[in-house]
Amino acid sequence: MTTLNNKIAIVTGASSGIGRVAAELFAREDAALVLSGRRQAALDEVIAHITAAGGRAVAVAGDVSDDAHARALVETAIDRFGGLDIAFNNAGTTGIAAPVPDLSVETWRETLDTNLTGAFFAARHQIPAMLARGGGSLIFTSTFVGHTVGFPGMGAYAASKAGLVGLTQVIAAEFGAKGIRANALLPGGTDTPMGRAVSNTPEMRAFVEGLHALKRLAEPREIAQAALFLASDASSFVTGTALLADGGVSITRT
Ligand code: NAP
Repeated sequence: MTTLNNKIAIVTGASSGIGRVAAELFAREDAALVLSGRRQAALDEVIAHITAAGGRAVAVAGDVSDDAHARALVETAIDRFGGLDIAFNNAGTTGIAAPVPDLSVETWRETLDTNLTGAFFAARHQIPAMLARGGGSLIFTSTFVGHTVGFPGMGAYAASKAGLVGLTQVIAAEFGAKGIRANALLPGGTDTPMGRAVSNTPEMRAFVEGLHALKRLAEPREIAQAALFLASDASSFVTGTALLADGGVSITRT
């Protein structure tokens, strides 16, 4: 038996990095997938890779800060595959980094809209669809930034991602009795286009690696495996948590 055994999942941020690798992993574990990202061509590449390996996936391109896109993802899961069991709400942006007094209102709004309001839009369409199936698992990709570490320049990002932990707890409390689990996943620095943009010089890369007890960045696969755990019945008694997959950032002082 496979880990996801015919479950139906939405993965956002599936055109790159953690979301792409998670989509490919979920497909190998026999989930049927609806994938989201803004770049259609990048999503098409992921779909081609998944279908060539015998998996099932369709793409809906759009912006997660658009409520109509969130609704379209759920409608597609129902129309194409018959319902929704899992939502890996993973799309995110760091915005343009700057000390708080210098953060533009535009960056603040765009970062909050994408990372936090987008998660609210996702959840408000996903939860009713999961209730119709008797339960499900929501996963929100947060981060160590703003939870265990105050990372300079990341005010909007930290605020939006810390907000996800609060949203997760409330959803878990509201719908636990109806079979819905909600968890936040908090990766450490991860070797993706986003992670490489933050660690964009050898000095910065060494600094970020040094924050971790493991003294390296994560491979996207290592974060995708934590998402698979939260998506699957292996985590059937895990809800409302902020699961660190952070290579020990939270406990490192050297
Ligand atoms: P990535 O490779 O840059 O991927 C980001 C994904 O989010 C892309 O698929 C992108 O798709 C999508 N996205 C961004 N803004 C969007 C929007 N407005 N609407 C729809 N899709 C949007 O970065 P990643 O590292 O895999 O990041 C995945 C998640 O992990 C993010 O939530 C990030 O905050 C979190 N995280 C990353 C790290 C790290 O070090 N990399 C650490 C902790 C947490 P399009 O470009 O096609 O729109």
